Amino acid sequence: MSDVLDLTRELIARKSVTPDDAGCQTLIAERLQAAGFALESLRFGEVDNLWATHGQGAPVLVLLGHTDVVPSGPVENWTSDPFVPEIRDGLLYGRGAADMKSGVAAFVVAAEQFVAAHPHHTGTLALLLTSDEEGAAIDGVRRVARTFAERGTRIDWCITGEPSSTAELGDLLRVGRRGSLSATLTVRGVQGHVAYPDKARNPIHDVAPALAELVARRWDAGYESFPPTSLQISNIESGTGATNVIPGTATVQFNLRYTPHWDAPKLEAAVAAILDGHGLDYALDWHRSGEPFYTPEGPLRSAAREVLAAHLGRPPEESTGGGTSDARFIAPLGAQCIEIGPVNASIHQVDEHVRVADLEALPDVYGALIARLLPDAG
Ligand SMILES: [Zn+2]
Repeated sequence: MSDVLDLTRELIARKSVTPDDAGCQTLIAERLQAAGFALESLRFGEVDNLWATHGQGAPVLVLLGHTDVVPSGPVENWTSDPFVPEIRDGLLYGRGAADMKSGVAAFVVAAEQFVAAHPHHTGTLALLLTSDEEGAAIDGVRRVARTFAERGTRIDWCITGEPSSTAELGDLLRVGRRGSLSATLTVRGVQGHVAYPDKARNPIHDVAPALAELVARRWDAGYESFPPTSLQISNIESGTGATNVIPGTATVQFNLRYTPHWDAPKLEAAVAAILDGHGLDYALDWHRSGEPFYTPEGPLRSAAREVLAAHLGRPPEESTGGGTSDARFIAPLGAQCIEIGPVNASIHQVDEHVRVADLEALPDVYGALIARLLPDAG
């Protein structure tokens, strides 16, 4: 049985439902220490974070991953126990098989093999693991990145091992993510009888033209491979249920997915300016879930393209689509970020799985990438 398959099985068997690491990082830390890595545990609240480095100085290449998993849901819906890894027909089943204990195990094996073969590589090879990616994501990489910023830890390149592939390992190279910003808008009016509108103020009538303007606005025309920034209204609530009452308040929720043309403060100001222009009496509650990031053409992106093309026999699609990942916290440190990992078709589902052949290929893919980025010191 291969080393990476063994390690993935050992990790799946540890029931690390977010934010419980369940000993995954201890197991990894022991291996990396034996391989010559320097270790630092960064525990915040109930969250474990592990920072392991080999070598020193620039460039700093970080392999970023998480040891936590989402809950399995009812175990009886699974064909086999989600925390007892099982191989059937060339697929390894278990919670975290794809998201992302396979990626983490492949990082560890690739790192061990790389430093054994290249003890005098240039720069620094680092692994950063958290047990809080699937949960609140407050005391995980978000908090670690703040610590790094305070102490001046620099990162040049970051590879996230999240399951990014769609049909085959390496068919998609993620080179950025849109930003995401949500708002709850509460518009105050004056409740009254519909027969006496002069004695009331209808918040629905107040907010409707402002919403029309927000929705109609062309925020930008896109950016590189990003689609245009979009505002979507997700919820509107108002009214008492009676047909003869003007409501006292209206509440609207909306979300913006945005390109690197914008950041959260700029978008918040632009939205407020539109609302102010309509003379609304309102309160706005913002939730910032992550700024956009984009990795333009450069050493990281071209190395990743070439390595994936060599593995797959054709170049990968280069995309900024999909949801969010912890790379959103590393990118603001000035790092270029990409994501490469196994096929994501079964993540968070019942009978989550990874193709064993993909799993066994993954350490070589990461290893080839590391070797290009951190060549032997000459
Ligand atoms: Zn994940």
